[in-house]
Amino acid sequence: VTLLGEGWKMAFVSEEEKTEDYLFKIVLVGDSAVGKSNLLARFARNEFYPNSKSTIGVEFQTQKLDINGKEVKAQVWDTAGQERFRAVTSAYYRGAVGALLVYDISRRQTFDSIGRWLNELQTHSDMNVVTILVGNKSDLKDSREVSTSEGKELAEEQGLFFMETSALDSSNVAAAFQTVVKEIYNILSRKVM
Ligand code: GDP
Ligand code: MG
Repeated sequence: VTLLGEGWKMAFVSEEEKTEDYLFKIVLVGDSAVGKSNLLARFARNEFYPNSKSTIGVEFQTQKLDINGKEVKAQVWDTAGQERFRAVTSAYYRGAVGALLVYDISRRQTFDSIGRWLNELQTHSDMNVVTILVGNKSDLKDSREVSTSEGKELAEEQGLFFMETSALDSSNVAAAFQTVVKEIYNILSRKVM
């Protein structure tokens, strides 16, 4: 992980810091229909929507995680469909310390978009954002268009974590969020505790 900017801690540790309560803003990024909203629905509510529309989206949802015996809250932000027009505003990214950069393993086009989303994320966020590249829909084995090793390679190249997930069968969903939150927590621990 590269160096964090000044103010990283101040900007992102919640008001309740004194009670050792941490709140991290995490953003979901990626093309339309890759499964961002369903990853959040699975993670936060253990639900899945076979025919989801952008209307199921919530602005953000807060989920508690246990990291090394400490309670950490992930405030996960979801888009409301504006990514279809590549019109995600800077307000969406503002203050984010973590990101899930999501593509659909059964649609190569969504993998090809990752570079642009990563660029946008880096442009709009004031600090280094702990990012995991997520190849979602790993259950769609027969229509796979992006191999696991391609995903891994891109992640290594860009210095990102990597995981394949399925919001449908729950595979790796909690693990993907946990990876990001844990890394943020570890960085803060090294920096300020
Ligand atoms: P978003 O536009 O990125 O938020 O994507 P959605 O969460 O709305 O999902 C788009 C479509 O993909 C919906 O029909 C979902 O049911 C479906 N979907 C999402 N995740 C998965 C998954 O892991 N596996 C499969 N097979 N379908 C999924
Ligand atoms: Mg959505």
